[in-house]
Amino acid sequence: MEKQQEQPMKMLKKRNVLGPVATDFTAANTGNWRIERPEVDYSRCSKCRTCERYCPTNVIEIRPDDQECVYINFDYCKGCGICTNVCPRQCIQLIPEVR
Ligand code: SF4
Ligand code: SF4
Repeated sequence: MEKQQEQPMKMLKKRNVLGPVATDFTAANTGNWRIERPEVDYSRCSKCRTCERYCPTNVIEIRPDDQECVYINFDYCKGCGICTNVCPRQCIQLIPEVR
């Protein structure tokens, strides 16, 4: 007797594609998810790069020579707040997003 798990795979193989299918995928603009945004107190930042390493969407870039040394790409920052939690100097805080 056929295993229950094998049945769906068998059905999928028989199916023909009837309509248009996606052939090109682009990254979602995760910045739209944000209800809070990280705000950095640059004067207290030690440029240790901890936030850069821990950001799950990899949108933080430390620019040591800039006055605004923590660059955040807000097109993709989803406001998760991980950077605020890992910063050893507590110089990032979440503030309400205003659109
Ligand atoms: S809030 Fe989340 S996504 Fe945005 S910069 Fe911080 S860690 Fe990255
Ligand atoms: S973790 Fe904090 S102190 Fe370190 S680079 Fe990021 S904002 Fe600056």
